[in-house]
Amino acid sequence: MNVEQKLSKNKFSVDEGNPHISVDSSRLDADTIHALTVVCPAGLYSLGERGELHFDAAGCLECGTCRIVCAGHPGAMSWTHPRPSFGVTYRFG
Ligand code: SF4
Repeated sequence: MNVEQKLSKNKFSVDEGNPHISVDSSRLDADTIHALTVVCPAGLYSLGERGELHFDAAGCLECGTCRIVCAGHPGAMSWTHPRPSFGVTYRFG
């Protein structure tokens, strides 16, 4: 079983219109933006055709890695856990 197959076992309850993570890429440098695109284990950060950062909190594993990557850029990221009953439910196996 590969990583994608394992991740697909998880269940996600998406809090539509109330994402638990928001990113202001104008406060990030190019190295940090690149880091976001490679460190997220769910692959939720990507670059558009013009190099703009795209992010969708749906599918977040709540690992906190992106929060640490952005820690040196005050105001660039708002990160909280999802509200109760929302977010990832891990299903192993
Ligand atoms: S908390 Fe983890 S899984 Fe969620 S967006 Fe950040 S790096 Fe990706």
